[in-house]
Amino acid sequence: MPHAYLSVALDVPLPRSFDYRAPAGAAAVGERVIVPFGRQTLSGVVLAVSETAPDFAGLKDIAAAPGDLPALPADVLALCRFCADFYAAPLGMVLAAALPAALRQPKPWGGDGGMLQWQATDADALLARLSPRAKKQRQLAELLRTPQTREAVREIAGDALRWLADWHAAGEVIAVAPARPTGMPRQASLPQLNPAQAAAVDAVNAAEGYAAFLLYGVTGSGKTEVYLRAIAERLGRGEQVLVLVPEINLTPQLEARFRQRFPDEAIVSLHSGLADGERTRNWLQAVRGEARIVLGTRLAVFTPLPALGLIVVDEEHDGSYRQQEGVRYSARDLAVWRARDRKLPVLLGSATPSIETWKNASEGRYRRLDLPLRAVGGAVAPTIEVLPTGRIALQDGIHPLALERLRATLARGGQALVFINRRGYSPVLACNECGWVSGCKRCDAKLVLHLGDRRLRCHHCGFECAIPAECPDCGNIDLKPLGQGTQRVEDALAVRFPDTPPLRIDRDNTRRKGSLEAMLAQVHDGEVRLLVGTQMLAKGHDFANLQLVVVLNADAGLFSVDFRAEERLFAQLLQVAGRAGRAGQPGQVLIQTRYPEHPFYAALLAGDYAAFADEQLAARRELLLPPCAAWLMVRAEAKRIETSLAFLNALRGALVGMEVQAMTPIAASMSRKAGWERAQLLVTAATRGPVVAAAAHLAALLAAKPPKGVRWVIDVDPQDV
Ligand code: ADP
Ligand code: ZN
Ligand code: ZN
Repeated sequence: MPHAYLSVALDVPLPRSFDYRAPAGAAAVGERVIVPFGRQTLSGVVLAVSETAPDFAGLKDIAAAPGDLPALPADVLALCRFCADFYAAPLGMVLAAALPAALRQPKPWGGDGGMLQWQATDADALLARLSPRAKKQRQLAELLRTPQTREAVREIAGDALRWLADWHAAGEVIAVAPARPTGMPRQASLPQLNPAQAAAVDAVNAAEGYAAFLLYGVTGSGKTEVYLRAIAERLGRGEQVLVLVPEINLTPQLEARFRQRFPDEAIVSLHSGLADGERTRNWLQAVRGEARIVLGTRLAVFTPLPALGLIVVDEEHDGSYRQQEGVRYSARDLAVWRARDRKLPVLLGSATPSIETWKNASEGRYRRLDLPLRAVGGAVAPTIEVLPTGRIALQDGIHPLALERLRATLARGGQALVFINRRGYSPVLACNECGWVSGCKRCDAKLVLHLGDRRLRCHHCGFECAIPAECPDCGNIDLKPLGQGTQRVEDALAVRFPDTPPLRIDRDNTRRKGSLEAMLAQVHDGEVRLLVGTQMLAKGHDFANLQLVVVLNADAGLFSVDFRAEERLFAQLLQVAGRAGRAGQPGQVLIQTRYPEHPFYAALLAGDYAAFADEQLAARRELLLPPCAAWLMVRAEAKRIETSLAFLNALRGALVGMEVQAMTPIAASMSRKAGWERAQLLVTAATRGPVVAAAAHLAALLAAKPPKGVRWVIDVDPQDV
């Protein structure tokens, strides 16, 4: 029998592919194969097929070529290869990240039948052919006048699925995609675009080939409307559109808006919250070109889309586009690469663009499209005020003026949100007698007090214990919670505003599926008028009647070692502010701070992100910080910090002679986490090339000789420092 020799990428942490033998024609490039690997069986993707046997004695045969996956097209393989090279990750791991979980299993995917339905091509002809005595077969043929699922077929008779298969083979029955469950009324009339929107839509529609656009406009300026028009144009040309959003679970409103605008289009979503089967089916619909709008989170950037015509990245500055485990890629950056590779337009939208994107726009690589006004007639930007907290007595962490405004807002029937980015009751429990504080034994962090179930919890490693009855050091029984978390603020507001009891929304009470949606519904109904929440509430939710936002602990982001902290804080505060005053009523935002003179607040109050971004960019240029320099961070953790540092020092030595600057390794900012002692090595260069080369060099070195007792990560273009 003639053979073919396959080079296969496997999901293993080794930067190489593996050779296997297969019957000639069993699998083509981009297809999935199942192969033996040591004692395991793994699923892999074919990278190359050759007729000549590799010079390798232990060559094994593949276990199966399931043929359940349409071959990954060349452009997606190229995207994955770029991702692997740029982020110094094994190609097999990138490909695994690109495929839905069900297609990564070392067994054929049996799920497609779950989606497809069967229908007779000509039920009358089929009935005419069947014997009049074959009662059950006739019953099935009748049923198949309309599309039926496998389950419905199976109910007819024990043999029904076999008949179906025979008829299918004979062409008497075909598989059809299920009817699209839209049920949405068509939008009666579209809003008249304002001139800035119209100019933006025209620019995107006019793009032939690669073009990158930054759509810069505050929340409510009509960015989504611009996306919708640009998408409509591409659909009209018979193309597919990929829309990336930061967190799809938080944006059901966006999905609904898409379905309402395009009721006749198959829209699929792709995100990690979907069940494996559903995600695989959605993915296959996109791959086959049936789904024309794909709405997904970062992982969707890899979706094969044969007729792709436009990529939209909403909230392009959002940190969740960055994968922080396994392969550490930026979906936004990959989206731009993909657009260039496929020669199509990419539209990045934000009210607070990342400094990376800002730089690209100011240097002319991206074209900036501004939406300077709020879209809805009469809607005005919220007024932002700073409340200095230095010399005033706070009440449960809340400024008296903020309480007064809350009272006034609630009294006139408005909704108000108290924003505090810290869950739990208080961030630490302390003893006033001896100075003991509740620290985590495994991390450089404090245990957070959770009063609801009377526990102390570490938010970094998950450690928890009961609240001690007395100080472990001196026996004092009067332990005090220090500072505020969402639960404490909730309690304080409940006492003060008994007629409008607060609803708290944070990660602690929204873990159960559907609980967040249920709470948001209460807010939309106006049942709840006072909200306490974390950043979960900052994104995407549209609260029509929200008139006041009070921000309690903004300062936490001001004095961070991370040079991106201010940029993030600005984005977050503007995003929270954007929740207020959306539907015509003016919104008010009060920010409590101990540092009212900090230049950051001057920029925020001016509401001028462009000025802030220009300043940030100038500072980065001066200090040679990204994006005005290229960075690579190697992170290491071991049982002892000395081991981590020694390991990184050795790596630093291995970079001598390369065109990069490797700094002295230092302890990480939280140097102990979950019992591991962590350090980092920063490698910099003026441009990306040398940094990527250094990352590849280190990855090869570590793969050839894996270190013992040290865990390491190579983080190209790190987002947290
Ligand atoms: P963004 O995405 O920038 O937050 P949206 O596109 O969601 O802004 O627009 C905010 C609100 O304004 C939405 O309710 C939208 O329907 C409405 N809107 C957008 N563009 C227009 C327009 N040209 N005329 C009237 N209303 C508009
Ligand atoms: Zn004590
Ligand atoms: Zn801990």
